[in-house]
Amino acid sequence: MQKFPLATERHRYAQEWKARTGCKIMGYFCTYVPEEIVYAAGILPVRVLGSHEPQDLAEPHIFSMFCPFCRDCLAEGLRGNYDYLDGISHAQSCLHIRQSFESWQMHIPRAYSHYLFMPANLQSPSAQTCLEEELLEFKNTLEKWIGTPITAKALNESVEVYNLNRRLLRQLYELRKGDPPAISGAETMRITLASQFMDKKEHNQILQQLLQELAHSPRKIAPGPRVMVLGSENDDTELVELTESLGANVVIDDHCTGSRYFWNEVIPPSPSMGEGKGEGEHTDKILQAIASRYINRPPCPQKDLRDRRRFTHILKLAEEYKIQAAMLIQQKFCDPHELDIPPLQELFTRKGIPNIFLEVDVTTPVGQFRTRIEAFLETMQLELA
Ligand code: SF4
Repeated sequence: MQKFPLATERHRYAQEWKARTGCKIMGYFCTYVPEEIVYAAGILPVRVLGSHEPQDLAEPHIFSMFCPFCRDCLAEGLRGNYDYLDGISHAQSCLHIRQSFESWQMHIPRAYSHYLFMPANLQSPSAQTCLEEELLEFKNTLEKWIGTPITAKALNESVEVYNLNRRLLRQLYELRKGDPPAISGAETMRITLASQFMDKKEHNQILQQLLQELAHSPRKIAPGPRVMVLGSENDDTELVELTESLGANVVIDDHCTGSRYFWNEVIPPSPSMGEGKGEGEHTDKILQAIASRYINRPPCPQKDLRDRRRFTHILKLAEEYKIQAAMLIQQKFCDPHELDIPPLQELFTRKGIPNIFLEVDVTTPVGQFRTRIEAFLETMQLELA
């Protein structure tokens, strides 16, 4: 069976993909960028990630009190490791990652660059119309760049490919509901990360084969405390690997690099809605459906206004995946998550779920975390006994 490339192999994968297909590649900085539209243009969207190597390259361009993830992403561009990108795009989320994107625009310019305004208040009645217009504008600029129209048919096909990927990843996550889970948290994390830089059709194919394999022979995993990880962006598998090496099973997450990336699908317009309509109206309907998907996805804390919908979603996941402990992760200086973590800790404590807070930097302090996580797991097991 073909294997998923690791995040450390993402540049090689992208360069080979480009040589094989002759098509363009676009780096995107936030999972609110509607990748379906990029993919419909025949362009491969790849998420810009850091390398987790200590660096001082980003220092002259971005304040050191911005989150390590943003600085790491910028450094990876400044090193020239993303030189194969033809374009970049960003959808407004937090100011830290926007700063990283704007530094790229200035210091690592590409042939195409687009900033998409994603409303902060996605619960506002005008968010849908606003976003539809933004998506149309995004599509128009892409068409101008590639020199061909993005048809309604291409958009529909792209949505199908993306929806299939989301469904398959949900199936993979379902396998973690068992006790013990049929697949580890670390392996699931590597697969989910791969979907953020691979061609979705290729990812779907390998994932379908893996799901068939797992249905017959689940991974041999020992039962252990069931842990949820949540918080800031987390693309470093080291923490989850460490936690699982200490006997726990990471069974669910709420990260933009994890479940939030794929949790909900685009609900395509029914075919009858397009009957007798022209290409423009077909396109409008699909863009409406895409906009609705991004508005209704499990929110980033930056977008979780005014009702706090994120907490309800997290508690639902905690219940469905029968978690026994929670690990709350914050990228150093990440304001959006910093504000959410104390009320979340309170919520977990009220529900009787032991929890631990860990602050991460560009590199994971494995030695220090090992001691803390080990002590946490021992104490919680004593409490549960
Ligand atoms: S939400 Fe937090 S982790 Fe994500 S980019 Fe913004 S500051 Fe960094």
